[in-house]
Amino acid sequence: MHVSHFNTGLYDANSYLINGRVLVDTGMNTRGLVAEIGKNIDIKDLELIILTHCHYDHTASAEEIARLSSAKIAIHKDDAPFLKNDRISAAALFGYKAPSIEPDILLEDGDRLPIGNDEELLVIHTPGHTPGGICLYEENSKSLFSGDTVFPNGSIGRTDFEGGNRSQLTESINRLVKLDVRTLYPGHGEVTSEDVNSQLGSSLRMSKSIF
Ligand SMILES: [Zn+2]
Ligand SMILES: [Zn+2]
Repeated sequence: MHVSHFNTGLYDANSYLINGRVLVDTGMNTRGLVAEIGKNIDIKDLELIILTHCHYDHTASAEEIARLSSAKIAIHKDDAPFLKNDRISAAALFGYKAPSIEPDILLEDGDRLPIGNDEELLVIHTPGHTPGGICLYEENSKSLFSGDTVFPNGSIGRTDFEGGNRSQLTESINRLVKLDVRTLYPGHGEVTSEDVNSQLGSSLRMSKSIF
């Protein structure tokens, strides 16, 4: 699996271009992201945009990127209704109105998305940060795209936004620690390959702790 990592703004989520055809999350800086994608591929060759959850910092540019590329947009079915909700998408927090994204594909736990090279992403429903948050796991390279569910060094997603739920987040992370993960591609922060399984264990302990 080949992954290019883009981050085009201080508050923007990370975007990952996989095998030159699948984009995970878009951030908010459309012009910056289009430029980064263009350094790697002809944007018209982009086939699929997967959104890890409904939050504006991950999804704002999706509609425009889809229009420029004719890529399809996929998101978990439980977060799809919130894409257009100013409050639950957190667009209002950033001072914007939510975009009018119409997803093409509604994902469910256990779905497998082909990404080329005989590889696929396993969809793992990980509610807690949002009701329809997902993580994506690629088995050959043992890669986990974790959205805002877990971050490096034992950090965890916030659960104080509308739709957040700490006990669900703990359950979700409890599923992630059962995977063997070599590289973590988080929604924010740096990509890490340093003993990721123990970093995930720290996230689980953090989520279980009461504060
Ligand atoms: Zn985020
Ligand atoms: Zn988020």
